[in-house]
Amino acid sequence: MILNRFYCLFFILSLGLASGCQARPPMPTFQPKPPSTAPSLEPTSIVAESTPIAAVSESPTAALTIPPNIHTDPPVRFSFPIPGPIPSSGWRPPLYPVPWALTPYDHFYLLRPIAADQVNWPEPDYRYGGTYAELDTVHSGIDINAPRGTSILAAGAGQVIWAGYGLLRNDKDVNDPYGLAVAILHDFGYNGVRLSTVYGHMDRIDVTLGQHVEAGQQLGIIGMTGETTGPHVHFEVRFQYGDYFTSRNPELWLVPPQGWGVLVGRLLRDDNTPLYQLMVDVQNLDTGQKWQVKTYGPKNVRSDDYYQENLVLSDLPAGQYLVSFTCDEKDYQTQIGIHPGASSFFYFKKGKPISTEMPATPAPEDFLDTPTPTK
Ligand SMILES: [Zn+2]
Repeated sequence: MILNRFYCLFFILSLGLASGCQARPPMPTFQPKPPSTAPSLEPTSIVAESTPIAAVSESPTAALTIPPNIHTDPPVRFSFPIPGPIPSSGWRPPLYPVPWALTPYDHFYLLRPIAADQVNWPEPDYRYGGTYAELDTVHSGIDINAPRGTSILAAGAGQVIWAGYGLLRNDKDVNDPYGLAVAILHDFGYNGVRLSTVYGHMDRIDVTLGQHVEAGQQLGIIGMTGETTGPHVHFEVRFQYGDYFTSRNPELWLVPPQGWGVLVGRLLRDDNTPLYQLMVDVQNLDTGQKWQVKTYGPKNVRSDDYYQENLVLSDLPAGQYLVSFTCDEKDYQTQIGIHPGASSFFYFKKGKPISTEMPATPAPEDFLDTPTPTK
């Protein structure tokens, strides 16, 4: 049982972003794959309490650290809400082997950044797309709580493209909200787009810029650097070298426990705009266990190309479920099956019955973020 839960305290203001919560990120450009041979660098430690800037400055090249878009929106600090009840159980079966994908549209390619003998699932009250109050803010990743000093592991093989302070603005600011952070550009991608992952709030970093790491390799340890209320890892999935504006919901990329599945939803108003922060109740009809999950807040979140979702709830034991919610004082509900190692989808447009059919197969030109070769 989890006794203490902690969150990132930083939020990213959505200033200046194009309106519309389903706005696509800028078209990624093709990046040639780096050499498969790893730089001959020995891992070194960057420790929060010591001299992180000096340690970072020893990194081999700054060229690897520059994401394509640098945003300088200021992080802001808000008062912290009182956590609600814990809706998730404290046990998971072993994970499927990665990469795991039963359909062309699923992409469970990543291991979890915390080992399987500990809590390694998202903080349920503050998932991707979570917001507080009425501010246009977004949680661009998930939080996994763990005791200080717990190992943080690479979610997949790849090259370290960031190690140190300053990830948000690509500088070396020790007050960066991510704290000591590592970013990895993975050796693999999806539909021609390379993936990267981010790990924030470390107390110590055990890898160096440019180093090649394997899946499961220790990157550092859980800490409290940056804007955080307590020890946890802030974990993001991004496309290419992208910044947080290219993030995707990690729960669509982290491999499920064996025999468990993922619920994906798209909930719209009658004018086809997303329903923001709508509370959805999910109940396992076999066991009675209940979950609650909210749809994404406005702006800054990026939906999956295929699902176009604004709700994801991972780590659900396979079985029959009841999904219910209230929209403009009218109650809606549907039954949906959760299947082992797969995503189940429901679609709701206000005023119409809920559909549990999978999205139509997109045309290639719609489905692929077609890479644009660059010279
Ligand atoms: Zn976070």
